[in-house]
Amino acid sequence: MSLTTEYTTADGFKLNLNTGLFINNEFVAGSSTIDTINPSTGKVIASVQAAESKEVNLAVEAAHKAFYGGWKTSSPRERSRLMHKLADLVERDSDELAHIETLDNGKPLNDSKTFDVPGLVSQLRYFAGVTDKVHGKVIETQGKLSYTVHEPIGVCGGIIPWNFPLNMFSWKIAPAIATANTVVIKTSELTPLSALKVAALIKEAGFPPGVLNVITGYGHIAGDALARHDKVGKIAFTGSTAIGRLIMKAAAETNLKKVTLELGGKSPNIIFDDVQNLDEVVFWSRLGIYMNAGQVCCAGSRIFVQEGIYDQFIEKFKALASTGKVGNPYEATTFQGPQISEKQFERVMGYIEAGKQEGATCLLGGNRVGDSGYFIEPTIFTDVTPKMKIMQEEIFGPVVAISKFTDVDDVIEKAHDTSYGLAAAVFTSNITRAVTVSNRLEAGTVWVNCYNQISENAPFGGYKQSGFGRENSVYALENYTQVKAIKINIGLQ
Ligand code: NAD
Repeated sequence: MSLTTEYTTADGFKLNLNTGLFINNEFVAGSSTIDTINPSTGKVIASVQAAESKEVNLAVEAAHKAFYGGWKTSSPRERSRLMHKLADLVERDSDELAHIETLDNGKPLNDSKTFDVPGLVSQLRYFAGVTDKVHGKVIETQGKLSYTVHEPIGVCGGIIPWNFPLNMFSWKIAPAIATANTVVIKTSELTPLSALKVAALIKEAGFPPGVLNVITGYGHIAGDALARHDKVGKIAFTGSTAIGRLIMKAAAETNLKKVTLELGGKSPNIIFDDVQNLDEVVFWSRLGIYMNAGQVCCAGSRIFVQEGIYDQFIEKFKALASTGKVGNPYEATTFQGPQISEKQFERVMGYIEAGKQEGATCLLGGNRVGDSGYFIEPTIFTDVTPKMKIMQEEIFGPVVAISKFTDVDDVIEKAHDTSYGLAAAVFTSNITRAVTVSNRLEAGTVWVNCYNQISENAPFGGYKQSGFGRENSVYALENYTQVKAIKINIGLQ
């Protein structure tokens, strides 16, 4: 059986796609297959091998063997060398990886080239740099020498979504392997292809078999089997709140594996009337909601504008949003690609319909673009009220709700009227206001005078029902290590 498929992208790039499961450094067949669809056309790209509990078990056993067979005690220098080598190979094949990401996910090729692939490299290099900086402490305890060591957990499972396939992959694997854990990562069944390309590079880089295993499969089958496996010591999940609850339940019902969750949001973007350059505010606000076709967990989907500049903001925001070209992601001028799938397309269109039904004004967009693929116009709703569905639920599409506020207390109350707390933004020229409002906001990240600025060396994660645990930066190391206290009676002969 062939575990590769040849494909030529719309811009003429020839790809040889891996379609097997990557277990123990080999591509192998699964118990079933899943067709992965090009969201720009709605047509099948390739049929990939899907893991069921049998293959999940094989992958976990391989990771378990690799952990106890030497990776657990591998030198920090060796782990760092391998991670840098993998980053070198990703850079070498960056054009190919960017084309695969755009093919499978639909995001503009320019974004894949400038954001997604470099993001993978940055994560690998950042965590390659911390392998030898995971230190314990020496603690004075009544005559005994006490010290702590930070040890790896063992086999770590990762379950990732489809919106940033390479980035989410890197956020899970880099801190895990840097701290001497081994990994089984399940990619989204909607976007398996780019991680399978990286899998080939993992082998080429020289990682020992079993250290990094990449599988795909349906969530309720492969994801559930991973979340329930007794030899998995930790699971890191990014995706919907509903599935996040199931992951916690699976962990609770089995071996109480450690869990971290990153679950999306309904982030407020707050614009005060003292801003000096409204064009810049409009630029960031548009990026905040329409980047990646709105399929961003921290998307600024609720914009609150102070009443004095509301009309002016609306006029400029609408003008800029209408210029964003929606369509073929391989064209250099395209700003917005398709939604990931027919299901997501229908879901987003359902929210647009709900907004209209509940009495909001659809100021811009609201329609499908073209007759093939899953493209939706950038959409703006005004005249919204706090309890409308489009103000409460995560839409995960190019749809923003814009409303007015009077003062700080008013906007804080409105911003907090959500079960989520992933991110927020404040636009103001007043430093005191920037700091006091940032301090009051219940969100894991607050951007001031910018939006969607995420870096590998600053923590990212949620308050409230946006999840718990921090990814990126040294904060992420806490998720992948356990602390042991050793106490030595130095007086005993
Ligand atoms: P999802 O939560 O269903 O899927 C995310 C991952 O979880 C996928 O790999 C999936 O296969 C897996 N999964 C699904 N069911 C599982 C189960 N029972 N056990 C274990 N793993 C399981 O997300 P989705 O369907 O891809 O998207 C639905 C909504 O989730 C979106 O509209 C959006 O609101 C949210 N979402 C959030 C993010 C984020 O970055 N926070 C990313 C994608 C989706």
